[in-house]
Amino acid sequence: MLDDDVTNKKGIYSYVLTHREKYLHIRKFTDSQKRKAFENQKGICKKCAQQFELSEMEADHITPWSKGGKTSNENCQMLCKYCNRLKSNL
Ligand SMILES: [Zn+2]
Repeated sequence: MLDDDVTNKKGIYSYVLTHREKYLHIRKFTDSQKRKAFENQKGICKKCAQQFELSEMEADHITPWSKGGKTSNENCQMLCKYCNRLKSNL
């Protein structure tokens, strides 16, 4: 329950202390971004092309976060948990 709050506050404190913008970059997609991508894809996983419930899927950065991909609607795709895990293990 406190996860999100604690994480965000920590980011803001770090930003205030260091003035480094990277602490304000949010890696996690919001629920509304996820829902939007989910609806656009009609619940179909971009990798295995099977249909899932929203609760069975995870948001993924099309351009990886580590390569400068933004946490924006345009850069959000939904993968099933299985595919997403495979991808992040590569
Ligand atoms: Zn999949």
